[in-house]
Amino acid sequence: MKLNLRGHHLLCLKGFQGYGYDEDFIKNMTLINSKRKLPQTTVSICDCPDDICSSCPNLIDGICENEIQNERIVSMDREVLKKLDITKEYGSIELFNEMDEIFATEESVSEICFNCKWSEKCLFYQKLSNNR
Ligand code: SF4
Repeated sequence: MKLNLRGHHLLCLKGFQGYGYDEDFIKNMTLINSKRKLPQTTVSICDCPDDICSSCPNLIDGICENEIQNERIVSMDREVLKKLDITKEYGSIELFNEMDEIFATEESVSEICFNCKWSEKCLFYQKLSNNR
């Protein structure tokens, strides 16, 4: 099984604990979060709408909300992607292990998670801020 995930969603998945924009979104994200933990799953990474966006009510005409918000989201993706190899199809377990090593401090995600409205609900971000 193969997943397409945009850069910043690799962090969102690590912090996901069942919150989201609507029921369809939560159902889909829960499913993807299970799939990404399977050893046979592979992941391609991008800075564009992905398998999570496809069930999101904020995806309008192929972008996230509007031009300004979309730019902000894409720059978050690129902050993550610059630490990875975008040409590679990763084994999912390998990729998320690599993410744990790269993004291990609050400082390492400051440019990505700082303004996120979900940070208080995000287990990943909360863990990093508690380890400060
Ligand atoms: S469309 Fe925007 S808000 Fe929705 S999942 Fe994608 S990046 Fe997140």
